[in-house]
Amino acid sequence: MSFADTPASSAPGILGSMSDHAFCDVLIIGGGIAGLSLASALAEHADVVLLEAEPTLAHHTSARSAQQLVPGYGPPPVRELTRATLAALAALPDARRLVWPSRFMVVGRAADVQAHRTEAMETITHAEACALVPALLPEAFESAALDTTSVRTDATALIEHHRALAAARGARILTGHRVDAAEKHDPGWLVSAGKTTIRAARVVNAAGAWADRVAALFGAEPLGLVPLRRTAAYVDVARPLPPETPMVSSADNTWYFRPEGQRVLVSPSEAVPSEPCDAQPVPREVDAVVAKVDSVTTLGITGVQRAWTGLRTEAPDGVPVVGFDPAVEDFFWLAGQGGFGFQTSSGIAALAVGLLEGVRPKGSAETLAALDPGRFRT
Ligand SMILES: Cc1cc2nc3c(=O)[nH]c(=O)nc-3n(C[C@H](O)[C@H](O)[C@H](O)COP(=O)(O)OP(=O)(O)OC[C@H]3O[C@@H](n4cnc5c(N)ncnc54)[C@H](O)[C@@H]3O)c2cc1C
Repeated sequence: MSFADTPASSAPGILGSMSDHAFCDVLIIGGGIAGLSLASALAEHADVVLLEAEPTLAHHTSARSAQQLVPGYGPPPVRELTRATLAALAALPDARRLVWPSRFMVVGRAADVQAHRTEAMETITHAEACALVPALLPEAFESAALDTTSVRTDATALIEHHRALAAARGARILTGHRVDAAEKHDPGWLVSAGKTTIRAARVVNAAGAWADRVAALFGAEPLGLVPLRRTAAYVDVARPLPPETPMVSSADNTWYFRPEGQRVLVSPSEAVPSEPCDAQPVPREVDAVVAKVDSVTTLGITGVQRAWTGLRTEAPDGVPVVGFDPAVEDFFWLAGQGGFGFQTSSGIAALAVGLLEGVRPKGSAETLAALDPGRFRT
């Protein structure tokens, strides 16, 4: 699929025409889970083009997650969007391939566990926690809480699900197209990615760690989004975990682990500010989490099979940013998903479709207000 180069002097007014590929209703910038889940939902209602800078989709953070969707995790708007995502995924014909039960347990000092506890998490006794995860040393924690509604996803399959659905609904998805310039051309925008220029009535900024930089191309004020580095690794162990073992996370946010076949997924749960980049693991942090998880379990870690790092990009208040920019017309934010990008994806996409199409968005008034990009401007 190739787009014709469109001179800036082209006649306006034929947005959405399928006869001219250089025009669309909505141009989405970014081919991670945020951009693709919106593309699949929106393409039912609008002519959608998605541009991804990298040669492949989901090259950055969306290829590097722990693939866990935890309804009890995150601030209230995130929890509402997670419930909506789980309901949407459960209704799909191939739901069992995309999500399956995987409990989530938080352990630590009683006060820290209490601080993590939400309506989706039940407090369990120390003995119950030890019985659920015999590999966890009893002296390593005081208190525990369990989310039995948590699920695992297959991120690659979910990304492909959204890509295929978006394409089947007529969305045009181009990789290797880094958006590098934009010009207001009422109604809408002229957006360039190298030699390709596309006119779009509305533009969605789903550029992950680059969202503030992309906004600058459109003359929008940055929101103060901060990419935060987080590492994970698959490790080999002397004593593998049974597959039904919950994911276990320390309430002081210093480690988590989960069974991954014969191996174990571990993470130091770090959140280190970074420039937008192709983030790579820091070897001493991988060594440190191996030592830490080894010290609180009987796993017996024997080596690191693979480690990776991604950027969890957060707004100053830790809540995603979804909605039209308050000052720049036809420019829509879909950013700041932090550590919740998969678990909120379908919920955010459904809400964003409503906002973009000017129909009543799905979601409570509180959540809509919490996500509003205007909340940072006084
Ligand atoms: C270790 C780790 C564990 C995690 N675990 C979980 C988990 O268990 N559950 C969960 O829900 N979330 C988890 N997350 C968070 C989740 O992965 C992210 O929230 C999500 O992937 C963000 O998706 P995104 O589409 O916003 O960003 P990205 O996947 O980074 O996509 C943004 C895309 O925009 C593109 N782009 C940037 N600039 C331009 C441009 N100018 N033109 C065109 N394209 C551009 C980039 O190339 C990139 O592909 C985890 C993250 C990490 C790092």
